[in-house]
Amino acid sequence: MIEFIGVEKRYSKSAIAVEKLDLTIEDNQFICVIGTSGSGKTTLLRMINRMIAPSTGTVKINGEDTINLNEDELRRKIGYVIQNIGLFPHLTIRDNIMIVPKLLKWTEHQKQGISEKLIEKVELPLEYLDRKPNNLSGGQQQRIGVIRALAANQDIILMDEPFGALDPITRDALQEMIKRLQKEMQKTVVFVTHDIEEAIKLSDKIIIMDHGKVVQYDTTENILRHPANAFVEELLGKRKKQTSIGNDIRVADLMNNQVEAISLSKSIIDAIRQMTNKKVDSLLVVDDQQHLKGFIDIQDIDRNINKFTNVYEIMRTETASVNQNEKVADVVDPLLNMELKYLPVVDDANRLVGIMTRSSLVSLIYDQLK
Ligand code: ADP
Ligand code: MG
Repeated sequence: MIEFIGVEKRYSKSAIAVEKLDLTIEDNQFICVIGTSGSGKTTLLRMINRMIAPSTGTVKINGEDTINLNEDELRRKIGYVIQNIGLFPHLTIRDNIMIVPKLLKWTEHQKQGISEKLIEKVELPLEYLDRKPNNLSGGQQQRIGVIRALAANQDIILMDEPFGALDPITRDALQEMIKRLQKEMQKTVVFVTHDIEEAIKLSDKIIIMDHGKVVQYDTTENILRHPANAFVEELLGKRKKQTSIGNDIRVADLMNNQVEAISLSKSIIDAIRQMTNKKVDSLLVVDDQQHLKGFIDIQDIDRNINKFTNVYEIMRTETASVNQNEKVADVVDPLLNMELKYLPVVDDANRLVGIMTRSSLVSLIYDQLK
């Protein structure tokens, strides 16, 4: 349990980063902290592990005042992840995963088996542990980045906009993964985001901040049903417009038009380069007129890299897709049952215009709850 008791952070008389607050976070909860830039999210987060010391008040972890814990003890209890700390290129995947236990001076016995257990949890082969990061795809590296945060087995993990810079597909996959791991491993996660969709998808409870004040702290469902004030309503506002379309909502209304595609005339090397740059594990394949032709993923490339040179030789052509004019209600089934984490969306001429991800569906279902 994390307790804030009369906690405040001010940098001067007038510069108040976080106004006086009392707030309790129960164990095994996924908590998102959301608010505009400068509203005090990072400050709130860092006061939990005393990277920032409160000006007044007390922060307690499991009933113990954190002021009585030294830095080592705090780092052992609380993990911390920020955006864009990539893997260390000169270390193996195993050494990357084990970096925090090593910094905490765990014995060999304590470290035994941890990286194997974690890499299995994210469905990557054990032999990857001995590879260097640049031998993994961008998406695989991201997964390793997430399990690295879990290696030291702290009960509390603080994450400050960890997926902020990622493309929507990778982000969607990592959100599902962190939520699953949080439940399985019974962690308390406090996760800063400025994306309301992300907060709704991940949270048991959401802390909403505005100008240093916590304006609402409640379950996701209660916040959606009873926004505390106009600021919260506005935060949820973008989503409400979508729901007014009601049952007639179309794929085009929900799809994401940021999509990674490659031309079928490109080489496999081009595909690898594009996947690495964009940190994705798969690419849709199109012809010169943007007609959807198929898809390739990193496994296809792994299997065929020595046999073929061109994308069209190895792409899979049995790609499912949906028309942008279809009703979302009619594509729920394929979206839940498909092989890909997303569905390509095409226009009437079969030109690729976007993708539907599972998280867009999750937000829709939450909207229908209201
Ligand atoms: P957020 O993470 O929500 O964007 P922060 O918690 O980083 O916001 O910052 C909250 C407020 O505190 C901002 O107005 C910021 O300018 C101010 N602030 C943060 N750190 C300092 C500092 N070291 N000195 C003075 N003001 C600061
Ligand atoms: Mg911040």
